[in-house]
Amino acid sequence: MNLAELKKQVYDCNLELVRRGLVIYTWGNVSAIDRGNGLVVIKPKGIEYNLLTADDMAVTDLDGNLVEGSLLPSVDLDIHLELYKKFPNAGGIAHTHSTWATAWAQAGVDIPVMGTTHADHFYGPIPCVRQLSREEVEHDYERNLGRVIVERFEAIDPVSMCAVLAPGHGPFTWGSSPEEAVEHSVILEELARMAKLSADINGGKAPVLPEYMAEKHYMRKFGPEAYFYQKR
Ligand SMILES: [Zn+2]
Repeated sequence: MNLAELKKQVYDCNLELVRRGLVIYTWGNVSAIDRGNGLVVIKPKGIEYNLLTADDMAVTDLDGNLVEGSLLPSVDLDIHLELYKKFPNAGGIAHTHSTWATAWAQAGVDIPVMGTTHADHFYGPIPCVRQLSREEVEHDYERNLGRVIVERFEAIDPVSMCAVLAPGHGPFTWGSSPEEAVEHSVILEELARMAKLSADINGGKAPVLPEYMAEKHYMRKFGPEAYFYQKR
């Protein structure tokens, strides 16, 4: 895929977040990486979606230097770059302030595996990472948020868990492509909503899904002996 095609793909994915109701105003961004050429394509900062064109997408190197285009990249670029450097399978990243996932992020709580919808897509609770220190916020804020996410993922596989909550902020998701990253944001929002609704029933005492059931649901789709999908 050439650079123009990648820019169009990233542009379409940014608009898809709006179509899915996960983003209003400029509250989100999608990026993609071309690992062969060491380039990242990301939404430019602070432009209303209805004014964007595919050609407006910012292209940077892995150090964040603008290599193509006249518009500056999203302020969240450094978060994306940290994740790309540490998650070699990530081909695209999406960030939103979607209501239900953000509610969990603002509560500072991991989203527990309440049901099979969650277990079908994400292996384990969605981690909410630690809050940043004053120093980490005041100096190199975005890069530090990326580092804090990576720090939490030292003990988590970023392939089977492709979502994270930034505390007091909102979700980031990734996938092998920007389309997959957006799909994971859509699924995350829905299961965050279900989890909150379930937790509210019976005074917050709803049980989490038994671990053996969560294991079964994830592994039948993605494990070495997966049988969930039709084979043709
Ligand atoms: Zn944000």
